[in-house]
Amino acid sequence: MHSDKREDHDPERSAEASARPCPICGKPSVFAMRPFCSKRCADIDLHRWLGGVYAIPVAPEDEPDAGPEGASED
Ligand SMILES: [Zn+2]
Repeated sequence: MHSDKREDHDPERSAEASARPCPICGKPSVFAMRPFCSKRCADIDLHRWLGGVYAIPVAPEDEPDAGPEGASED
């Protein structure tokens, strides 16, 4: 054997040592909530996904453009 692969650097284990910042707020992530720092941020991320699929912020897409023009503009 040439290279003895030892599972010394288990990324899962050394997560605490080199905790990556929470992708939501940038705070150090918590092991239990990885990769987030708290359940709140995990929720935010979750809602981002769900929100992007289900509930899109009210956007004027279908504007009923069937009104008298120049009704009250100056
Ligand atoms: Zn966070």
